[in-house]
Amino acid sequence: MAWRTSYILIGLLLLIVVTTLTTNAYWLGSLLAWVLIALASEVVSLIRGLLAGSGPRDLSPPDGEVGLVWVPGFEIKPNEVDPRVGLLVQPVVISPLALAEEAAPVVPLLGKVVIITIFIGRDDASWTDTEIAGCLGSVVTAGRWIEAEAIRWGVPLNLELATAYLVGDDASERPTELALGSDGQVDDTSVEATRRMIRSIMQVLHPVGFDRPSELLEVVKQRLGADAVVGLVHPRSAGRSFVYSHNLSEVRLAAGLAICYPRYADHDTTLTRKPPATDPTTIAHELLHLFDATDKYDVPLSRFAKREVTRRDIMRLERNTLSHLRIDQLTAREIGWAGARTLVEPKKTPLAPGNGPKGEGCNVG
Ligand SMILES: [Zn+2]
Repeated sequence: MAWRTSYILIGLLLLIVVTTLTTNAYWLGSLLAWVLIALASEVVSLIRGLLAGSGPRDLSPPDGEVGLVWVPGFEIKPNEVDPRVGLLVQPVVISPLALAEEAAPVVPLLGKVVIITIFIGRDDASWTDTEIAGCLGSVVTAGRWIEAEAIRWGVPLNLELATAYLVGDDASERPTELALGSDGQVDDTSVEATRRMIRSIMQVLHPVGFDRPSELLEVVKQRLGADAVVGLVHPRSAGRSFVYSHNLSEVRLAAGLAICYPRYADHDTTLTRKPPATDPTTIAHELLHLFDATDKYDVPLSRFAKREVTRRDIMRLERNTLSHLRIDQLTAREIGWAGARTLVEPKKTPLAPGNGPKGEGCNVG
């Protein structure tokens, strides 16, 4: 937009200068045409912007907290440990007209962004209220960290957690082999694992009135007037956390969902240690993937442009503690924070060499 504005200003200036020097109709006409073309281009851009609904609706500055929000029409049975949150118990009444046909596109991580959580029991063990309350605590910690980064970057973002969560158990058989390729890409067996995950999610969604994940996200989005809604799925097993790859045909079904395992394992396996405590770093990392942030591990830092990515970038996962991590330039650009004014210079804390990524193996295309 800025370059077109410059064209208009230059054109107007020239027009004034030429008018004072000459009455030549050719020059005057040419300059007038220049200004008019630039003006028309500006108007078209403005209309496009309005039609696309560009930019977040909610421009409130981040408050650094993850608020709990009740979704209208979502009846809950309070959690025994933290009664502010609870299990979604009644089927949600949904107007067919309220549902979007398409899965939600990737949007910038800006405005009012709501998180809704889904817990899936595994290996004949269901999530307990205590475990769920603990996991939601990790989600809030991850959200607070992202909001603190938004404050540092000076961008409008408010993350909120839906008080209603969904719970179910996975009855289907675990495929015999579940390995992801060593390059983090999906191979045939892991495709089967991701399909199994979608079947599990469907089993949780159907009893409460939803046909597919995108319906749940869309209904929450509309009822809360949010800019975006994302789902965090917590299987009660160990595995490699991921978001659905764009090259899977099921991506439309699972768009907007991140699968966050409470414990890392190369394959989807039974939890051997209790309780299943989910790492806030993994949750923050997967949340950013949902907004198009890419992995930056397994690549030497020298491959990136200077100052674009440091060891502290969360998408490199060299550290496990959120307070040691941040969102660097390249990741900020990917999630739509580019061009934002930096309010506070990042603190320069020296880091010991990292141990490489832990807790995650991404299927992100
Ligand atoms: Zn990742």
